[in-house]
Amino acid sequence: MTHTFDMVVLGGGIGGYTAAIRAAQLGKNVAIVEQDKLGGTCLHRGCIPSKALLRSAEVFALMKDSDRFGVGAEAVTLDFSKVASRKDAVVEQLYSGLQFLMKKHKITVFQGKGRLIGPSIFSPRSGTVSVDQGEDEILTLVPEKVVIATGSRPRSLPGLETDGMTILNSDEALRLEKLPASAVIIGGGVIGVEWASLLSDFGVQVTVVEFAPRLLPSEDEDVSRELERLLKKRGVSVRTGTKVLTESVRKHEGGVTLNVEYREEQAELSAEIALVCVGRQANVEGIGLENTDVKVEGGFVRVNDSMQTAELHIYAVGDCIGGLQLAHAAAHEGLTAAEHAWGLQPHKVEPHRVPRCVYSRPETASIGWTEREAKERGRDVKVSKVHFRALGKAIVLGETDGFIKVVADKETNDLLGVHMIGPHVTDYISEAALAQLLDATPWEIGQTIHPHPTLSELLGEAMLAVDGRSINM
Ligand SMILES: Cc1cc2nc3c(=O)[nH]c(=O)nc-3n(C[C@H](O)[C@H](O)[C@H](O)COP(=O)(O)OP(=O)(O)OC[C@H]3O[C@@H](n4cnc5c(N)ncnc54)[C@H](O)[C@@H]3O)c2cc1C
Repeated sequence: MTHTFDMVVLGGGIGGYTAAIRAAQLGKNVAIVEQDKLGGTCLHRGCIPSKALLRSAEVFALMKDSDRFGVGAEAVTLDFSKVASRKDAVVEQLYSGLQFLMKKHKITVFQGKGRLIGPSIFSPRSGTVSVDQGEDEILTLVPEKVVIATGSRPRSLPGLETDGMTILNSDEALRLEKLPASAVIIGGGVIGVEWASLLSDFGVQVTVVEFAPRLLPSEDEDVSRELERLLKKRGVSVRTGTKVLTESVRKHEGGVTLNVEYREEQAELSAEIALVCVGRQANVEGIGLENTDVKVEGGFVRVNDSMQTAELHIYAVGDCIGGLQLAHAAAHEGLTAAEHAWGLQPHKVEPHRVPRCVYSRPETASIGWTEREAKERGRDVKVSKVHFRALGKAIVLGETDGFIKVVADKETNDLLGVHMIGPHVTDYISEAALAQLLDATPWEIGQTIHPHPTLSELLGEAMLAVDGRSINM
């Protein structure tokens, strides 16, 4: 059967469905092709389920520590099956909401695996989408514009192939039905660090092995160092600059044993499970790109800053184009693609304006350049760093670890970067994002009246401190 649409979106994750909703708002007839579940990685295997688990871990850790607040909570117990059901319920609630949104915007969702085809009897241009619905059921969707939003999947390492039981990737870890006694996490990037934090809060003995010299290698060095210090304080073993010798990996009844190498010295690590968190690979195979002139570079679909591929009526957004691989980046790219496709002049996606958050305990959040990046770009920088330990709200909460660091240009006063580690920092990094968007100087943000007592007050102080004008720090 053949259907005609203004726009067909291949992949119903956050990048794809955002593009679809925006196009529908612009009065277009839109379809999404999704082979699995609408919502994609973020809703089913990423942001949402992991944050639901992190919330349970946070509650557990707080209850074990409640005596500090004068609250007795003896014999605090953990029922991991309830933790897992709550996570599933959170996902289910949002999944229903998303299905409702599709109906509300009259977006047609086709279940099946989509594939682009080249010029054919259906269209002289490539970009017609053939949808395999199984049992020899093939649909043909003929769109004016196409958005590729096929996302990504966990990367694997030869020798560390996952089995879902002893060696797991992040998708499989979210399906754990019981907690292991110990875990070795391979990779100290965002996903590895979040898992280290939550497993350790649940009482699992955790070792993180990271090849780079520090955790969160693309974040500011001060943040990485502080995070490592705080995780170690909680009993997490952190081995940076350390390589996993993948040929040494052996599974046995008690779990898994592997060798690691640090400065030519080897050590043996054993744990009940190994969690492989070594990045994500774009889904660019098997989607018919060879039938088009769309280019793939370094494993990612190549796009311009309006999200157009080399075939200008075919757009691509989200994890499949690489870059930061974050849900809000994918959503923003989806908006840009839809608006550009229908003749508007959207706000372009600029990577240094995308906030980056890690929901460990404590959280980290940042935007813009690190101090090192700013210097490498030839900027003469001024830097401030103010600590939560002196902030009223942090002391009230009993969460005083961490700091906010601001990097600004000495000459122009431009705000170049904000780097935070501490309580709930992911909730107010958007203030720095707004400041960047509006080209506000640190002084202007410092002048903004922050309510007292709040954690965001420290952001105001950090902005003032960059010019030596902090009042309270
Ligand atoms: C454990 C984890 C935690 C994360 N936490 C956060 C977080 O806290 N904050 C954050 O911003 N980001 C987070 N992310 C990243 C975030 O989930 C991704 O950046 C985001 O989901 C990317 O969206 P997308 O639309 O590009 O792709 P996806 O969400 O991967 O969606 C792509 C969709 O396309 C479908 N598809 C693929 N090929 C085809 C085909 N041929 N036909 C039909 N359908 C197809 C897939 O089934 C999938 O549903 C996390 C990721 C992980 C793994």
